Amino acid sequence: MGETPGDIQQLDERTVERIAAGEVVERPASVVKELVENAIDADADRVTVAVEDGGRGGIRVTDDGIGMDRAAVQRAVEQHTTSKIRDIEDLEGGVATLGFRGEALHAIGAVSRLTVTTRPRGGDTGTELVVEGGEVTSVGPAGCPEGTTIEIEDLFYNVPARRKYLKQASTEFAHVNSIVTSYALANPDVAVSLSHDGRETFATTGQGDLRETVMSVYGREVAESMIAVEGANLPDGPLDGVTGLVSHPETTRAGREYLSTYVNGRYVRAKTAHDAVVDAYGTQIAPDRYPFAVLFLDVPAGDVDVNVHPRKMEVRFVDDDGVHEQVRTAVEDALLEDGLLRSSAPRG
Ligand code: ADP
Ligand code: MG
Repeated sequence: MGETPGDIQQLDERTVERIAAGEVVERPASVVKELVENAIDADADRVTVAVEDGGRGGIRVTDDGIGMDRAAVQRAVEQHTTSKIRDIEDLEGGVATLGFRGEALHAIGAVSRLTVTTRPRGGDTGTELVVEGGEVTSVGPAGCPEGTTIEIEDLFYNVPARRKYLKQASTEFAHVNSIVTSYALANPDVAVSLSHDGRETFATTGQGDLRETVMSVYGREVAESMIAVEGANLPDGPLDGVTGLVSHPETTRAGREYLSTYVNGRYVRAKTAHDAVVDAYGTQIAPDRYPFAVLFLDVPAGDVDVNVHPRKMEVRFVDDDGVHEQVRTAVEDALLEDGLLRSSAPRG
């Protein structure tokens, strides 16, 4: 302990690790995000998410993806290990996979009790590995299906300040729900399900249809009101495409959480795009109401920085105004086509 002011101490490795882990793992929803991303990266057709007590009591994500052999799972929980990139150039080249920092599993393991049960596709032995507070406490053979299950218990048990900061179960679950919903919408060809305290919240079919996926998560009424955005755009805008679904101006909600945007397939918080969607509706919706939107933006790799935020949820566009203009125009065109905007709607 440094007792005199100015007595500068080197932090021990475990402390450094927990601080670093806090950057990646803020709350149950951030754990869920990392695990679902990994499952989708692992080529899963089915991803099942089950949480207890808003995630505070436990988180389990099961996939039928490629799985891991024993050596791979041991490597996976170490720091800065990834099978997805080799160097910084891979990052700049715009990787196809969602996660690529090679630190999520390690970070989660540092602040919880984490159990991985996994068997590679076509492999005949499974492995179970347990990490407690950053230490691998057991590893051995396990009977399990192909694919991977990751279970988190006692999140933040060794970071009391974080644990205390967690909100009530319903609030934490709302965050989890919003994350899982986002991934389900972005991956209509993956059957995604979510349950809370044993009760199913939603389940998508994985049949590949976006409107059907919207129906599974938001219900029939919303799904039927959705209008296709086909991204006929300004010729010289920064985006290669804007596609997806937006709701009829009469199908709105009080919050922005039903605006989902994806950049090159990755779920992001893109304020520019959200504002552009809302602007497209103009006076058709009240100022305190927001439409539903599921929009996929294709951006050339060099025109977007997807790594600005440690939790990878925010992006920065090189040409922010250009993106705003293209998204607004694409959504306006879709609404116009449906006769939902007057064609004299201002475009400036
Ligand atoms: P990253 O996703 O950035 O590579 P992670 O810490 O999230 O880093 O995962 C480390 C590695 O563990 C991944 O690169 C992958 O090889 C492996 N892995 C993690 N989750 C899964 C999973 N569900 N199925 C198969 N492999 C996985
Ligand atoms: Mg990952």
